[in-house]
Amino acid sequence: MTVRWAAPGRVTLIGEHVDYQDGLVLPFALSQRTTAVVERRAGGEVVVRSRGQENSFPVATSPGAVEGWAAYVAGVVWALREYRVDVPGLSIDLDSDVPVGAGLSSSAALGCAVAAALDDELRLELSPTALATIARRAENDYVGAPTGAMDQMASMLGESGHALLLDCRDLSTRQVPFDLSAAGLTLLVIDTHAEHSNVGGAYADRRSDCETAAAGLGLSTLRDARLADLPRITDAVHRRRAQHVVSEIARVQEVAAILDAGRPVDIGAQLSASHLSLRDDFEVSCDELDEAVDAALAAGALGARMTGGGFGGCAIALVRDNDVPAVEQRVQAAYDRRGWRAADIFAATPSRGAHRVD
Ligand code: ADP
Ligand code: MG
Repeated sequence: MTVRWAAPGRVTLIGEHVDYQDGLVLPFALSQRTTAVVERRAGGEVVVRSRGQENSFPVATSPGAVEGWAAYVAGVVWALREYRVDVPGLSIDLDSDVPVGAGLSSSAALGCAVAAALDDELRLELSPTALATIARRAENDYVGAPTGAMDQMASMLGESGHALLLDCRDLSTRQVPFDLSAAGLTLLVIDTHAEHSNVGGAYADRRSDCETAAAGLGLSTLRDARLADLPRITDAVHRRRAQHVVSEIARVQEVAAILDAGRPVDIGAQLSASHLSLRDDFEVSCDELDEAVDAALAAGALGARMTGGGFGGCAIALVRDNDVPAVEQRVQAAYDRRGWRAADIFAATPSRGAHRVD
């Protein structure tokens, strides 16, 4: 039998750099997705194909054995075996239209598509949250990328016309209405193509800054810190990091409440405040992201922010449908003036999470 499953990339609407502090995040699943076609094959090998490349590895794999893109697949097989699943030989064909390495989580789309397809083929009947956890383990413990739970949860659990409010402390979720087209709104994703080299080190530094700040307040994470507590953090840098985390969690709650009230047009101020916080307090932005945000706002965007880990990748801008051409034009003109390669700009549609494709 052949099973075919698709799992999407995601955009973080708001809630950046708070997942590893047990915070609240509000991503949504994109229409761009990765499809995994899975078939059993004789023998103890897994053969994977993607983008004209083929790779294979033994089913009994362990971290370090497979590197490169196939590690994302090997990681899922490994994580399933860690859960005592008896995985047979497999043939896995991948196809994707999620931009790779742009902060839209092509990696989670890949891991979740494979995990969901294997769940179906092997009749495991695991929950979407369990499958997200398996795809996350693949990425954390096999590939070695220290990510939070958000990407895989959004890819598994997204619903069309909704964003997913995720509490990273206990992985509880709630669907929040986010119907852009009904409101005459477009959420533009602006792929800057920028990729600065300090990402990995800076990510680890920010995590440890937050841990130190939380410890100074006698807390295990900043989730339960209040703005009024922050003056007790003596180190000025750690205080600013905490200021971002605490204020960002509050902004996620505000945006969720505004969306619950059916007023997506009114979330712009929170998006833009998130950008300033990431730029000035958390210091994870870069010129290309700042330029995209500033140009979008100057051309009439209701709000704009960097999205993803920072130092490159994508910005998002909430724009009235009528203003889309002006925003696109202004961003590209700004990039042209700086001598940068044109950005890729596309409209994001809140879409459903992993699903079977027949
Ligand atoms: P992002 O998740 O933001 O796109 P990552 O660096 O986390 O960026 O993941 C990108 C990596 O995931 C790629 O370098 C590749 O190894 C793997 N990957 C993602 N999508 C595919 C695909 N369709 N085929 C093969 N590898 C993929
Ligand atoms: Mg990724």
